[in-house]
Amino acid sequence: MASKKINFGAGPAKIPEAVMEKAAREFLVYGNSGVSILEMSHRSSDFTAIIKEAEKLMREEMSIPNEFEVLFMQGGGTGQFAAIPMNIARGRDTADYAVTGTWSDKAGKEAEKYINVRKVFPSMKPYTTIPDYGSWDRKSDAAYLYYCANETVHGVEFHTPPETHADVPLVADISSNFLSRPFDFANHGIVFGGTQKNLGAAGLTVALVRKDLIGHESRHCPSILSYKEMHTNNSVYNTPSVYGIYITKLVLEWIRDTGGVNKLFTTNQEKSRLMYETIDGSDGFFSCPVDAAHRSHMNVPFRIGGGDESLEAAFLKGATERGMVGLKGHRSVGGIRASIYNAVTLDETKALVDWMNEFETANR
Ligand code: PMP
Repeated sequence: MASKKINFGAGPAKIPEAVMEKAAREFLVYGNSGVSILEMSHRSSDFTAIIKEAEKLMREEMSIPNEFEVLFMQGGGTGQFAAIPMNIARGRDTADYAVTGTWSDKAGKEAEKYINVRKVFPSMKPYTTIPDYGSWDRKSDAAYLYYCANETVHGVEFHTPPETHADVPLVADISSNFLSRPFDFANHGIVFGGTQKNLGAAGLTVALVRKDLIGHESRHCPSILSYKEMHTNNSVYNTPSVYGIYITKLVLEWIRDTGGVNKLFTTNQEKSRLMYETIDGSDGFFSCPVDAAHRSHMNVPFRIGGGDESLEAAFLKGATERGMVGLKGHRSVGGIRASIYNAVTLDETKALVDWMNEFETANR
């Protein structure tokens, strides 16, 4: 078998080795079912057991409060951008959006098809910070206040949830920091994310929806984006992402068996600290534009030589030669981006830091 590289890709991203090995062992025939999970009915008892276990583990590992339902959906984070206004407008005509990067921007643009979108602070490209919560222009009659907990492209992360009015639920996109840290559900109405970064394969989206927000969908809401339909049908209204749900169950078992979310958070802090120390200690050779207080533990974007593209190309080439892939920055911002999701180990992060140090010594 060809050897595996260290994968710093932004998503789909690295899946823990133990999960991949277990999935490989169970691939051809699952348990006593006589078929592969890929060939299994989504109404079979084997799959019903898998989806129930996935939900149970999700609740346990994320400490999800009882007033939230766990919905396994499709359509990606992008599907939720539309699902949210269609499901929880509740007769209100405006929703508040905190735009801190590409993904919250896209979410707001999609929502504009269904509801008036108000930005709680003016556009602030390039996206490198989060304005003080006290300065946000929030409305008490907004349908909800939307934010992206971790901006995957720009590396801007909320380390605490924003403030909101009593009757305005927070909606959080946690696609790229799902279970990377303990999550405080207080004041939230919807917490959602695709699973292709921290929780498994592409094709599954998890929406955690507060019970009182279910059942208000607009007449035009497609059934597959309706929280009510999904909830009433235990996430098997139609054929779900059977394999995706299975892989997420395995990832959740891995999280449980390796010490849970607190342990992951400690390691993630250590990994990101190493990265930012290397960047900040390089006297400008490496630079990260994001304000220190809002830097992401998951996606670390940086430039080399103040944005010298030939140096950056040489860095990426050398990284590839050393078995490290997925480091090219998003096409909209350029440079380098290291995605150090849960499955990326401290040792793998150290290998990248070693290469950064070596490259700096040779090129500064
Ligand atoms: N939100 C965030 C934070 C993302 O990083 C992404 C995808 N990278 C999305 C939403 C969109 O997700 P999807 O591709 O699953 O629609």
